[in-house]
Amino acid sequence: MKYKAKCEIQLEGKPSDSVLVMPEPEKLCIPLESTRFLFESVEVKEGQSVQPGQVLARDLNNYSVPLLAPRAGKVKLGEVENHIVLDEITQQEEEPYDHREDEAHIPKEMGSIGLKRYKLLALGAWQFVYDAHSFKLPDPFGTPRAVIVSTVNLEPYTARGEVQLQKRLANFTRGLEHLQSLLEYQPIYLVMPDINSEFSRKLQDSVRGYAWVKPIQIAPKYPSDNFAVMARQLGFNKEEDNPVWAMRTEAILAIDRALTLSKPSTVRIISFGGPMVKKPVHLKAMPGYPLKDILADRIESGPVRIIDGGVLTGAMVSDQQKGLTAECNGLTVLAEHSDREFLSFVRPGFDRQSYGKCYMSALRGAFKERLNTALRGEKRPCVACGFCEEVCPAGIMPYMIHKTLYSGELEDVEQMRVDLCVGCGMCSFVCPSKIDLRGEFVKAQEDIERELHAQEVQA
Ligand code: SF4
Ligand code: SF4
Repeated sequence: MKYKAKCEIQLEGKPSDSVLVMPEPEKLCIPLESTRFLFESVEVKEGQSVQPGQVLARDLNNYSVPLLAPRAGKVKLGEVENHIVLDEITQQEEEPYDHREDEAHIPKEMGSIGLKRYKLLALGAWQFVYDAHSFKLPDPFGTPRAVIVSTVNLEPYTARGEVQLQKRLANFTRGLEHLQSLLEYQPIYLVMPDINSEFSRKLQDSVRGYAWVKPIQIAPKYPSDNFAVMARQLGFNKEEDNPVWAMRTEAILAIDRALTLSKPSTVRIISFGGPMVKKPVHLKAMPGYPLKDILADRIESGPVRIIDGGVLTGAMVSDQQKGLTAECNGLTVLAEHSDREFLSFVRPGFDRQSYGKCYMSALRGAFKERLNTALRGEKRPCVACGFCEEVCPAGIMPYMIHKTLYSGELEDVEQMRVDLCVGCGMCSFVCPSKIDLRGEFVKAQEDIERELHAQEVQA
């Protein structure tokens, strides 16, 4: 696959390197749903007192990955729909994990590696691991072809590895050693930002002598940090059986805490950015931290749209969601545009960037755009400009797939290799008609899996 990142994304509101430690909340509102997980099997009762690290619920369709209590508190199940509320919060040390009861779940032939992998699952560290191609949770007892560990996050407004590692480089290095102890012979690719930067030099020094770590540098343009893009660049194609495991900085820190201290990671560093945030920073907070307490006095007045994650791949936070999800790595806040901007896309536009140089801003040179949610005009059809194809790192033809989705069969869409889409969102970003191509393709992949391939298995 040839990587074709041509678009420079410059936006206002990038989180600074500072980390704001959020005060202890009075209560936590922990959503039972996050990007990949649905914690349907609730294991606590109304009014029950729980300890930090205790299992609140599990996702039975994802290797029973647990939702853990970040703090001690009293459970309230009915207070907020689809959330577990923890009231009367107190900060206590977690009891070290005791895995004796869990050994029955571990394949015998895996020995100590199996025990360690199960421990990661039980202590919540496994939830940070991805199958690089499908972005799903891989089997904790499976055999990977290789592991990609990325300290780089290029998507605008997401938590950056060098900030998460400011005081924890030693923990990160030890986490890598633990990771290596879970493997047999598979290489670990360590993805670094600009290899000549100070952070990169420190990182390289910390893994010097580890022959099993292969440092690599990627192009500093989004979406070169996308797991599927990196796996393909390294020569690991999707078609082969064993997955490539992929994870970011927070996963290695969670692995270190789980295997060094036998404790879960209940607090993490996430980003808090976007043009509507007064002082974009990184935040130290735990799942369930009330969104209203994070936003209070920290955002500009006016209607806003909150996104869980980065601006290109994140999901809009609904009014029903009250706290940080278990997987959240950043919150992005944009101005919500409710006014219709009639034929706005043909106005001169000194303040807006366009991949197609169709606004007067093309004369300004590089500048940071104050992004908002406006579509800039009416909903409009594809104008066949081809920009989406130019920027697509997967080498597919987004506009053709978009048209086929409306006029053809799912089999036709599959033949156009929508499965190669890595969900980076670049096509939607550059599209002058502001079509949600990424959203369409993610859904098409799910439909193909469910309607075509699930039928094959049944037949
Ligand atoms: S189709 Fe769009 S979302 Fe998918 S890989 Fe290409 S640019 Fe990214
Ligand atoms: S970028 Fe948008 S308008 Fe242009 S070809 Fe692709 S889908 Fe059509």
